[in-house]
Amino acid sequence: MNQESRKRGRARYLKIRGQRWRVIFGRPPRNYCQGLCDRDRRTIWIAKGADDPIATLIHELLHACFWDLDESAVEEAEDALIKGLELVS
Ligand SMILES: [Zn+2]
Repeated sequence: MNQESRKRGRARYLKIRGQRWRVIFGRPPRNYCQGLCDRDRRTIWIAKGADDPIATLIHELLHACFWDLDESAVEEAEDALIKGLELVS
């Protein structure tokens, strides 16, 4: 574990549309947010204290997959996915 991951949290890796992304479960660079998707660094952060970490992860993964979608489209897709997942839980 390097110094950054000790400070920021545990990192995992995930291939998204053919590119390797890092997913960090820890404090995002901007403390006020629950999650963050940084396209340039191909890194997603999910705050440890996120109210709903699954919804936050889905939201940030949608940003990573579809950069052309605006925030409202991502929120609508997140909502549809969460409701769909609730059907099978
Ligand atoms: Zn967003």
